[in-house]
Amino acid sequence: MDPSSTSPCELDREFAPQIAQLLAAPPLQSAQEYYDRLIQSGKHDGIRVNFSSKHGKGVCANKEFAEGDLILKDRILVGAQHSLNKIDCTVCSYCFRFVGSIEFQIGRRLYWQSIGSNSDCTNRRHYHGSDAGSSASSSGATKENSNTLPEEALRSLINGNLSLPFTDHFGLPRVVACRGCEEERYCSQSCADSDWETYHSLLCTGSKTDPSRRSAIHKFVEHANGTNDIFLVAAKAITLTVLRYNKLKRQPQKNTDESNFSLLMEAWKPLSMGFKKRWWDSVALPDDVDFCDEDSFRQQIRDLAYTSLQLLKDAIFESECAPLFSLEVYGHIIGMFELNNLGLVVASPVEDYFIHIDDLPDDEKEEAEKVTRPFLDALGEDYAVPCEGTAFFPLQSCMNHSCCPNAKAYKRDEDTDGDAVIIALKPISKDDEITISYIDEDVPYEERQAQLADYGFICTCPRCQEEKPN
Ligand SMILES: [Zn+2]
Ligand SMILES: [Zn+2]
Ligand SMILES: [Zn+2]
Repeated sequence: MDPSSTSPCELDREFAPQIAQLLAAPPLQSAQEYYDRLIQSGKHDGIRVNFSSKHGKGVCANKEFAEGDLILKDRILVGAQHSLNKIDCTVCSYCFRFVGSIEFQIGRRLYWQSIGSNSDCTNRRHYHGSDAGSSASSSGATKENSNTLPEEALRSLINGNLSLPFTDHFGLPRVVACRGCEEERYCSQSCADSDWETYHSLLCTGSKTDPSRRSAIHKFVEHANGTNDIFLVAAKAITLTVLRYNKLKRQPQKNTDESNFSLLMEAWKPLSMGFKKRWWDSVALPDDVDFCDEDSFRQQIRDLAYTSLQLLKDAIFESECAPLFSLEVYGHIIGMFELNNLGLVVASPVEDYFIHIDDLPDDEKEEAEKVTRPFLDALGEDYAVPCEGTAFFPLQSCMNHSCCPNAKAYKRDEDTDGDAVIIALKPISKDDEITISYIDEDVPYEERQAQLADYGFICTCPRCQEEKPN
């Protein structure tokens, strides 16, 4: 399959030279400058990004780390909560912190759960009929629920009329709504403003958006929710670029000596660092698809992306940024999220809350549980589903894989937002490469290599060299 000649997207032909530039690996010096600046602005002085001809990008230690030390807290470049996870967790759409209160979290989840079990609208499959590779799951919403509580009680929890005992130990930020739509919620006005400026102003379905665009955005979102929510995060990557481009264009000095396309290249720079492969070429073949059907499976996925892109174009097309709306570019953006080895995860404060109740002295516990028990029973086994989603972390994504890594992604109690947190697993010396494992490394050699094949490489880490059969 050669999409350059067979792409159904006319922009791929019309803007072929520009698209080739957008997808080309950035020049080494420009990439090095980008990472140096990113490290400097985030004050991540413990690391640096290196380039080598053998392994491409890699992250090295700039100082010593002891076991358990924090190496990096990496800010999300573009991320989104899974659509179905929104039923379980209400988080800030910008930093992914849980918002409202413990009561609000429990009330909303049980409320959505009761609606979900009635309409069955949550049993959506991905990729039209196949759920392979699906990253969105909602244990809470799809399970049978025999313990439904009266709707009145749930409403009281949500609107703050009913308080549960000891929740004042678990204060969450007050909910700030989007200035346009009712859909997006934030932990603060500054997150609301940042989201608006960075991604959301082009995707908001509120009254500030003109009605025809609003309905086009709805169609795009509905399609993504019904097929694969990875399109929602891809759309945010495009709005990020368009909004950065518009901002660059407003700077008077930029307008005189630079062409519009070079401004677009500049706006696109953070994303251009992350590309690997097109989505339809990189998705792992699901177990229920026969090898001889692989071509038609990949074709189907590409068609799905094409449909999504047409809907997105109706919603936010900006002619000066036309090359961004080509299928090739869209495929690479989605592929970047598909191949990112670390998703967005934020632990639920509801879990801490019920653990706290469980740990109370017997008499206090008994008293508290009279109130909390019915809610815990209604929530069921998965009473504390974490916030989960798709995200791209610019620095963490530069870390290479090892089956005997010296670091890992690990959220500590204080890490309550969506940032990726990398912790040292063993002592690391200055100039050592920092490695993480992209897979479950506690499996035999063959299985590891098979999983890593999806990332497009054969692992030659010290452990693999030792365990490799002769
Ligand atoms: Zn926030
Ligand atoms: Zn909005
Ligand atoms: Zn290995």
